[in-house]
Amino acid sequence: MYGSIKETRQKLIGGEVTLPEVVNHFIEKINDRNSELNAFLEVFENEALSRAAEIQKKIDEGKAGKLAGAVIGLKDNIVYKDHKVTACSKILENFESLFSATVVERILAEDAIIIGRLNCDEFAMGSANETSYFGEANNPWDSKRTPGGSSGGASAAVAAGMCNAALGSDTGGSIRQPASFTGIVGLKPTYGRVSRYGLIAYASSFDQIGPLTGNVEDAALILEVIAGRDKMDATSSSRQVENFSEINNVEKGLKIAYIKNIIDHPSLSEDVRKSFTELIDDLKGRGFTVEAVEFPYVDYMVPTYYVLTTAEASSNLARYDGIHYGYRSPNAYDLESAYVKSRSEGFGLEVKRRIMTGTFVLSAGYIDQYYGKGQKVRRLIADKTNEIFGKYDFIITPTTPHAAFVHGSKGDDPIKMYLEDIFTVHANIAGIPAISVPLHLNSEGLPFGTQVMAPKFEEKKMFDFAAYLEKELKKY
Ligand code: GLN
Repeated sequence: MYGSIKETRQKLIGGEVTLPEVVNHFIEKINDRNSELNAFLEVFENEALSRAAEIQKKIDEGKAGKLAGAVIGLKDNIVYKDHKVTACSKILENFESLFSATVVERILAEDAIIIGRLNCDEFAMGSANETSYFGEANNPWDSKRTPGGSSGGASAAVAAGMCNAALGSDTGGSIRQPASFTGIVGLKPTYGRVSRYGLIAYASSFDQIGPLTGNVEDAALILEVIAGRDKMDATSSSRQVENFSEINNVEKGLKIAYIKNIIDHPSLSEDVRKSFTELIDDLKGRGFTVEAVEFPYVDYMVPTYYVLTTAEASSNLARYDGIHYGYRSPNAYDLESAYVKSRSEGFGLEVKRRIMTGTFVLSAGYIDQYYGKGQKVRRLIADKTNEIFGKYDFIITPTTPHAAFVHGSKGDDPIKMYLEDIFTVHANIAGIPAISVPLHLNSEGLPFGTQVMAPKFEEKKMFDFAAYLEKELKKY
């Protein structure tokens, strides 16, 4: 209703609207739709309104930060000082953080308002927001369907207009897949672009924080604020942070690759195949070079991802032992039973499955066969990806094989759910940036996204191209 974050900021500066009015607008939307969508776990209503009044003063004095007008929800695995954070797990129920994530500090310093905590899969493990201890989140386009996962509350909230942006995390697609399913923009930055300090770890060599927004420019603006070196995260990069949100025109000389075996992939729905093929033709017609490339590892992506991420998860989640954090079983009678019972009662089924898988792939006798092999395949995938980027500016794929599915339709077979990530895990395995842009609707009128992947640290170019797609090729 207020347009992009920059437009809202302009309206605030021009006095067309006040920040308390903007916040109240979003609160009304939340009151209207949250019981149906289960996107917000908690709304910081009073706090948001009093911050709005304070920032309004700064606006009146001509001192508004870059994100004045941004009303942002936080996926419940990003910590915010003196606020609850649970990773949607019973094991952290009622846990309060003693510090704020670097991304939180950075958006607050630019006058964003944090409106509340958003539902997600437990410890960000899932593709449908069905593993959350606090229940499923639902898709605003059709509430019987999933908004995607794991950042399902975030995508539902932004798509339903309950906030104008959210911060999520993406380990294998958890920002881009929900964005695809709800018709919004989702960005996974280059590994190391954004500090992970204060993100509850799932698989540390894959995890990145990124924005879910209504448009490409907002995603670029938020990245501009949250990116950059942070001494609290040794893997954060000191690469220069460009003015991502100053979107430039694209050159028609750009060379774009698409992966041939993805177009022919059996998982792809007819609707997605047809729209994606039309997009390729459309781009060619507009003077871009668009060519098919061979990528022999498509079917190795998901297995590689699940071997390596479960290994990292089994180690990261060892800290929830019933002693240091959160839930302790009331049935414990000694130290060992405190560990066993707290973890057995505190973790959900999917999290336990992954901890056990990860422990197995790291165990003596199997580590070389599984974890070691997974590392090697990761390198092969990254090398082959870089080779493609030697000749092309971007790789495009559908973000998801189909549009949002009905809750529960994947049954009890975890593999079916894991295969949902087939096109998104690539970017996390290779450490490259990727963005999902909503361009199409399927025959049932449901949205799905197109993914653009770029070489490491080429977010600026990627945003320019994504903004071009959004402006010129969106079909609805
Ligand atoms: N759906 C994937 C998984 O279950 C991705 C999760 C994520 O990116 N956090 O692991």
